[in-house]
Amino acid sequence: MFNALIVDKGEDGKTSAQVKQIGLDDLPEGEVTVAVDYSTVNYKDGLCIGPGGGLVRNYPHVPGIDFAGTVEASSDDRYAVGDKVVLTGWRVGEAHWGGYAQKARVKADWLVPLPDGLDARRAMAVGTAGFTAMLAVMALEDHGIKDGPVLVTGASGGVGSVATAILSNLGYSVAAVTGRPESADYLREMGATEIVARTDLNETVKRPLEGERWGGCIDAVGGDMLARLLGQMQYGASVAAVGLAGGAGLPATVIPFLLRGVNLLGIDSVMQPFENRQRAWGRIATDLPMDKLDAMIQPATLSDLPKLGADILKGQVRGRVVVDVN
Ligand code: NDP
Repeated sequence: MFNALIVDKGEDGKTSAQVKQIGLDDLPEGEVTVAVDYSTVNYKDGLCIGPGGGLVRNYPHVPGIDFAGTVEASSDDRYAVGDKVVLTGWRVGEAHWGGYAQKARVKADWLVPLPDGLDARRAMAVGTAGFTAMLAVMALEDHGIKDGPVLVTGASGGVGSVATAILSNLGYSVAAVTGRPESADYLREMGATEIVARTDLNETVKRPLEGERWGGCIDAVGGDMLARLLGQMQYGASVAAVGLAGGAGLPATVIPFLLRGVNLLGIDSVMQPFENRQRAWGRIATDLPMDKLDAMIQPATLSDLPKLGADILKGQVRGRVVVDVN
């Protein structure tokens, strides 16, 4: 028997989360059983620990969209007992039981071998949020980063913190947008050269084009902020749209696309093909400074998760939570 965070739905339709003991036979089917070392908390985890947000299909459910650990049993040639692996995405922790347990069973296709230079704890400090930040950096590089600082929105969150640290390490000036003035020192520690107040950018678009300021952007916020910053991009610059912390709408005009050749790049971390996952994890191991990653970590255990899930939905988690499931 081993520990797992089980979310169940009562007859009143309300969900509740509790640490319980389950057995190997309770785990879903899959070719690889992993002894989980660490997991983490992303925005989606907040939804799945709590009301579900339409992501969870069946109850009882084990959330946790990310985990890192050691292969304990495998019927797939690609993985042997003792291999270190990481998993993000593929709807694990949503449609399939996830990483908030001491063991997980998944499809071999979903796993990625841990790259050299990254242990399980640091891999979970990265997690889906950091992996997505790396995908966004790669997308900006592929389209060319222009002169001027790179803007990172939702900067003290998971995606924003890792994006800031990677971009700064690659030599870019980073302008970090935050609604929490008390995060300024933390963001400078992550490598931000400029702090932009959320209120400077989250007003509804009044003029479709403003002064050209940003050489690129990683946007975790969406909504009015994304609409507004499109009109502030340098000619030919790109915005990697990653998240919707501020809203799913996009009340913008097409003028920045037509008159300034601005590119809006969609970033999805869930269904990324294996080769690109491997490339992104390899880049994380080389391009994300480990001292900055360590400074983002907030440690937690399985029993902390109900509170942390609620906190991340309220935008109150800073940096990256690392959950020691053991
Ligand atoms: P976090 O909650 O850690 O970070 C989000 C940050 O956005 C907050 O810390 C806050 O930063 C800012 N924020 C929160 N609410 C608002 C608001 N109303 N208006 C403006 N800014 C706000 O989440 P993650 O970093 O893990 O994820 C960020 C977004 O990216 C989420 O929407 C998530 O669903 C999405 N995502 C998408 C992925 C993909 O595959 N495309 C993968 C992973 C995440 P501050 O206090 O500094 O302003």
